[in-house]
Amino acid sequence: MRFTIYKFLSIVLVIDIIALVWFLTILNWVAVIATIIVFFLSLTLQVILVKCPNCGTRPAFLLLAVWTLLLDFELYISDTVLLRNCPRCDYELDRNLIK
Ligand SMILES: [Zn+2]
Repeated sequence: MRFTIYKFLSIVLVIDIIALVWFLTILNWVAVIATIIVFFLSLTLQVILVKCPNCGTRPAFLLLAVWTLLLDFELYISDTVLLRNCPRCDYELDRNLIK
């Protein structure tokens, strides 16, 4: 269930970024602030939600750190959507987290 929420939050992030650009275009500052708050809340929830049962790593936190250092947030979103195995120990995350 947590893994499903984790995948759903990736979609929320993409839609939120599109909404942020739209609200910046029409200069609706209240909506811009609201979408920025939703963005950071969903990103934080996504980072703390999934934990590898084998090695204890939080895969989203590791991916976020790597792609933030390389300044490529689009690849973070694609990695979270396509995440199947733990990036550190290669443990299959779907096996125990879908229950
Ligand atoms: Zn692991």
